[in-house]
Amino acid sequence: MIIVFFGPPGSGKGTIASIVKKELGIPHISTGDLLREEVKNKTDLGIKAKSYMDRGELVPDDLVLEVLKRRIEKPDCKNGFILDGYPRNVEQAKTLDRTFKIDYIFNFVLSEDEIIRRLSNRRICPKCGAIYNLISMPPKTPGICDQCGTALIQREDDKPEAIRERLKIYKEQTEPVLEYYGDRVINISTENGFTASKRASKQILKIIRGEI
Ligand code: AMP
Repeated sequence: MIIVFFGPPGSGKGTIASIVKKELGIPHISTGDLLREEVKNKTDLGIKAKSYMDRGELVPDDLVLEVLKRRIEKPDCKNGFILDGYPRNVEQAKTLDRTFKIDYIFNFVLSEDEIIRRLSNRRICPKCGAIYNLISMPPKTPGICDQCGTALIQREDDKPEAIRERLKIYKEQTEPVLEYYGDRVINISTENGFTASKRASKQILKIIRGEI
């Protein structure tokens, strides 16, 4: 089963995927995470991608496709996967359609005020990738990951200047993908923080299981 999680930065794609993947037994593939791993390991691809990412711009399609292909070829993807952060422009959406039959496209919907509030309060664990929010989902000990005890960090692109750039790019390049997908899109509201993520996860699972 191939599922696309679509929506602006901070709309809950990663948080919801971490809940839904356990229920469905398929991996969560975030192109942002794959690229951050390349940057961390200082690979050639990571070095090329870093400047785009720090500015909040899109990384060139060929580089993203390369990391994505490598990940999808791994055996744990044989029964499908949840894609988070791909496609991010119409060209990528066309590439995906040429390669796979997508079963579900969920689009997460929330206001711009809530996006900015979330991104500026987001903290992540650089070791295990856990995601926190200082307001709606703080760690038990301030600044420390509940799961692995590592000091939490703020992503470079969650700083105000980069947030503005990411939202601009989302509107200009990513939102047109919704028009391309048309009535294949299922809208899910994620307006109210972590409770919304839990509610959205339940709603998605019910849709996939044919219960609603
Ligand atoms: P994310 O973690 O999904 O917010 O992605 C972080 C950054 O990685 C984005 O701001 C882009 O610079 C880059 N990125 C992630 N996915 C893509 C993609 N599909 N196409 C281009 N750039 C991407």
